[in-house]
Amino acid sequence: MRKINNIETFVLKDSLEKNFFFSQWGYDERSICIVKVSCDDGTYGWGEGYGPAEIVESGINFFKKFLIGENPINNEVIWHKMYRKSLDFARRGVLVASISAIDIALWDIKGKLLGLSVGELLGGVHRENIVPYATGMYFTDKDNPTKDYKIEAEKYLKEGFKAIKMKVGLGINKDLNNIKELRNIVGPNIKLMIDSNHAYSYSEALELCRKIEPYDISWFEEPISPEFYEQYSDLRMKSRIPIAGGECEYLRFGFNQIIKNKSVDIIQPDICACGGLTEAKRISTLASSNGIDIIPHTWGSSIGLHVALHFISNLESIPGRMNESDFYLEYDQTENALRENLTSPKIKMKNGTILVPKSPGLGLEVNEEALNIYTKKTKGIKNLEELIKQN
Ligand code: MG
Repeated sequence: MRKINNIETFVLKDSLEKNFFFSQWGYDERSICIVKVSCDDGTYGWGEGYGPAEIVESGINFFKKFLIGENPINNEVIWHKMYRKSLDFARRGVLVASISAIDIALWDIKGKLLGLSVGELLGGVHRENIVPYATGMYFTDKDNPTKDYKIEAEKYLKEGFKAIKMKVGLGINKDLNNIKELRNIVGPNIKLMIDSNHAYSYSEALELCRKIEPYDISWFEEPISPEFYEQYSDLRMKSRIPIAGGECEYLRFGFNQIIKNKSVDIIQPDICACGGLTEAKRISTLASSNGIDIIPHTWGSSIGLHVALHFISNLESIPGRMNESDFYLEYDQTENALRENLTSPKIKMKNGTILVPKSPGLGLEVNEEALNIYTKKTKGIKNLEELIKQN
């Protein structure tokens, strides 16, 4: 029997050339923990956890001792083992992100062993092209939106994006002006979404919902604190704008609570945090059983982006139709060398869509040179060749 014989973690960091902000704090670096799970026959898989990288790493090391010697094919059995080992201490939160990272690596291994892509392993690929939306329009400092809405929006439109998500949460009047300005720039045919990262109270969020009705907002993401399931449902009943949330939620049990409370129109699990592909598949069943749309949150390296592509390719539309609506991928456009340089082949957008990888497993190889470089802290160097020269 094939056995897991090693689990290695890598905390990757890249300092940003230019800091950026959202409603909660600012970023001066990108940082992520990725994991390599290896087997005694030489097979290995990669995974990624979403959350503070050093804590995700500690979590993976906590689980490691229980997993050496396990058969990697048994992803659900291994998932349950990790769940049981953590349940008493961490029913939610970053330890679940550690489970997610290991689980994703097991799907990569399984796909490689069976010669199937993760999309095929999940049950098959419903759609080979996924429509990305641009996540951007962050703030330049803690009080001000980007001064370059026009430049940034025109860049996205030129690249072929059909949908853009902007950050809000600076206060109702500032948000309102910014939304007006951006809608003006992109015109009526581009989907526009807003994300406050739970910046508002219920009454503020309701006020903003009402004031932005004329601007055709496709969804309002995390209007209020993820703790307030009932307030979400009240807001949703009163808002004409669809409500989205779930990037701070974990496991099928957490999503069940959101869905039972009718809190959102769209759930947004982060597959690298909510329990990995094994649990995200269960969450998608909960969503489709209740007619709730699912558009995963993604914010990490290109590993997480591949994971989301496979997952979305397998999502079922209920009941479905000949010409189905677009299934969206969150495609972060902020500065992130770990998204651009870590893996090959590179993810490319063509004619406004991204092709789902077809190679076995996740369909990626981690660039070992990039891995070495980003495990050391680097300062604002964009080009991998330049990085290699300097090391
Ligand atoms: Mg968000």
